[in-house]
Amino acid sequence: MSSTIASGPGRVLDAAALRGDFPILGQTVNGESLVYLDSGATSQKPQVVLDTEIDFLTRANSAVHRGAHTLAAEATELFEDARETVAGFVGAEPDNLVWTSGATLALNLVAYSIGNATAGRGAPASARFALHAGDEIVVTEAEHHANLIPWQELAARTGAVLRHIPVRDDGTLDMDAAAEIIGERTRIVAFTHVSNVLGIVNPVAGLVALARSVGALTVMDACQSVPHLAVDLPALGVDLAAFSGHKMLGPYGVGGLYGRTEVLEALPPFLTGGSMVTTVTLDEAGFLPAPQKFEAGTQPVSQAIALAAAARYLGAIGMDAVHAHEREIGRRLMVGLRDIDGVRVLGDADSDVDRVGLASFDVAGVHAHDVGQFLDARGIAVRVGHHCAKPLHARFGLTASVRASASVFTTDDDIDRFLDAVAGVRSYFGAEGPTA
Ligand code: PMP
Repeated sequence: MSSTIASGPGRVLDAAALRGDFPILGQTVNGESLVYLDSGATSQKPQVVLDTEIDFLTRANSAVHRGAHTLAAEATELFEDARETVAGFVGAEPDNLVWTSGATLALNLVAYSIGNATAGRGAPASARFALHAGDEIVVTEAEHHANLIPWQELAARTGAVLRHIPVRDDGTLDMDAAAEIIGERTRIVAFTHVSNVLGIVNPVAGLVALARSVGALTVMDACQSVPHLAVDLPALGVDLAAFSGHKMLGPYGVGGLYGRTEVLEALPPFLTGGSMVTTVTLDEAGFLPAPQKFEAGTQPVSQAIALAAAARYLGAIGMDAVHAHEREIGRRLMVGLRDIDGVRVLGDADSDVDRVGLASFDVAGVHAHDVGQFLDARGIAVRVGHHCAKPLHARFGLTASVRASASVFTTDDDIDRFLDAVAGVRSYFGAEGPTA
């Protein structure tokens, strides 16, 4: 793999060379070569990931953890090796990684497990998670709906109160407000590592310290960080974290829930059924230890094995190199967008704030969907809408924005083509003139 060739000052990753690893990028869209700037929604997959999944299905496909035959043993070994690889990618031990279908399931799993603890289910140790009326769950204003609605639902079921840490005008979290909001009644602090709208890396250490000082559980949405920077979950000190396979060059239908050992041990299961039990009678069941306790039913086996290939691919490039590259792409995006008349970038914080290669913006007088279509006609794929973060858009007075998001294969040329196109949007739609 030609991934660590330097290209220009400060660059440790050759994005143009990496493009060749992604078959989908070779095509033209609407007569133009494809500029894919929608990796924040779902990433493209390198050939090695596609090959790994096909190879497993062609050669070793079989039910894991069951069956006494050779293929079953091989499938089980590949599946558990994949757990070790993906756990290692986030700095964790295999037993601290629960397979899920994605981040949404991982976050719901945590919320429903806490609901079960509140209902008196689980071992005696589960009681520490039980919520009582008036207990507080703290989120941030920048959450994806996947890390907001499960907490709204849990609050409604338990009588807990949902509070939020506000986002400042520049997109950073208001940590002074966080210090006031996180207090004796706080039981859970759920926050995103990197906002999928703002691209800003949140101050995890500060949030974890505040939560720990009051004994609250921390739940981190790592969907937009794990694919883009070196993330060591145990070192960050969070209790639980969710990430998604399809955003980190891996397949759909697989994701991970990381949990600290004592937390996973004490949480009661959410989904129940086959493959997660010790004994079962007609009246009751005993559960396996974590992670199997949380893995009821058939798991995404071929997807997990291919996700391990994605983790190895990113690991071979080096996550520090990935972050350095995408941070530079993000800077280029920000600087370029700020220069275009009538464009307002959401979360315009200064360069001392750490970022990934992602920016969302509004074009005065032109609806985000029109901007998206205009760009699509030029072969440029972006995301338009509220990006599953309606409260954050409302906070910026918008219902929709346009989002450009990068990956390892995004080149300076991609960004220049994108910026040139955005510069032509307002005149094309006759929306030029002073902005409010
Ligand atoms: N959180 C964030 C920040 C996301 O960007 C996404 C994906 N849009 C999710 C959660 C949901 O992830 P998944 O698709 O794996 O359910």
